Amino acid sequence: MDFCRVPPSGALHDLEHIWNYALPPFRIGPHVYGVGGNNDVSVYLLDSGKGLILLDTGMKELLYLIIDSIHRLGFDPRQIKAILISHGHGDHCNGAMALHALTGAEIWMNAVDEVFYRQHPIPELGYVPFPVHHHFGDGEVFSMGRFHIRTRFTPGHTPGTTSFFFTDTDEETGKTWRLAMHGGVGADTMRPAALRALGLPERLAHQFIGDCEALAGEPVDICLPSHLNQTNLAANLPENPMDYTPLIAPEVWPALMKERAAAVKAFYPDTYGI
Ligand SMILES: [Zn+2]
Ligand SMILES: [Zn+2]
Repeated sequence: MDFCRVPPSGALHDLEHIWNYALPPFRIGPHVYGVGGNNDVSVYLLDSGKGLILLDTGMKELLYLIIDSIHRLGFDPRQIKAILISHGHGDHCNGAMALHALTGAEIWMNAVDEVFYRQHPIPELGYVPFPVHHHFGDGEVFSMGRFHIRTRFTPGHTPGTTSFFFTDTDEETGKTWRLAMHGGVGADTMRPAALRALGLPERLAHQFIGDCEALAGEPVDICLPSHLNQTNLAANLPENPMDYTPLIAPEVWPALMKERAAAVKAFYPDTYGI
């Protein structure tokens, strides 16, 4: 089973040579940075002004690249106060134990995906248990400092995938931007056979399609892909990695949502008349 959208182009499938896929940190919003340290799986650092927040942790193999990225930006990783996990696949969460041990940060995750991660870890990535201190509620707002992050359950890619929506204001220009990260858009896990193999209901695929079509209408200025290749971000990073403004592109989010809905519809031709 292919667990993420795009076939293996980078770090994820060559864990023993992860340094070959290193990517320096970059700024993607006024107070938001890409610190995954690689050209595949995303980890975002949010500077709330009252502590740091991580969206996803990447894999344990990426840990030194993530820590290095945070230092390079001038932040102290020990200031990470909260870790928000998008979904229970190891490439997005199996660095959580080490990051929690280093920082004491509290970990937030969807309750269904906490169980899903334990029961169905991706074999190639292994299972690294970590404590979950809080379960997200759907539509709950997580607040720290300048950030108020609205969660939305968007099951499909996994049964408990959670997406994040928030705004961020640039003090230099006074402009406020809307940012969003869909928690998981990999279509292959929603193929009929893939769902059956894990004992998951087909309705997950249909809910994903409906949610993507609805979310396409949400205004989002800056899309935070959970893998950089979902929006071809690595290839489009600005020359100056601290200038996020070229990444303000309101057309990206709705295009991604519509394209992902179409990709999953194609697995169910009888239902969608394709
Ligand atoms: Zn993934
Ligand atoms: Zn995944």
